[in-house]
Amino acid sequence: MSEHPGVPTARLEALYQELILDHYRRPRNKGALEAATARAAIKNPLCGDEIEVQIAMEGDRLADVRFVGRGCSISQSSASMMTELVRGRSAAEVEELIACAGAMLRGDAAAALDDRLGEMRALAGVARFPTRHRCATLAWEALLRALRSHAVGAGA
Ligand code: ZN
Repeated sequence: MSEHPGVPTARLEALYQELILDHYRRPRNKGALEAATARAAIKNPLCGDEIEVQIAMEGDRLADVRFVGRGCSISQSSASMMTELVRGRSAAEVEELIACAGAMLRGDAAAALDDRLGEMRALAGVARFPTRHRCATLAWEALLRALRSHAVGAGA
């Protein structure tokens, strides 16, 4: 075996690149969410990315999630892929996915092979480029903040 786990082949790398560009050009779930119950915005001054994640919780379930903002292809595609992955899940599942994506983007090989991350795994290579790391994690950080702020608001 010449392949290392977590390190994509050239062919897979090309597929990943296409997937990232596809999400960048046709972002899923982009635009304001009218029924938002919580939102969080984060900027990445290193790259100029700005992402605001808006969520609508129904009880413990993330009923809907959208994002607004602008930035590089990595930040936008990460946000787009994220919304598709987390919509409809319980808050606990969403937090698990956030942790898993964070681990993958830090270079965790096991996380990079985790099926639950779906298309998001196209961004695993970002771990090799520390300057782009924040671009990929931005939307996920914003999602976590929105989730937590909702939890705080709901308890008050
Ligand atoms: Zn960026």
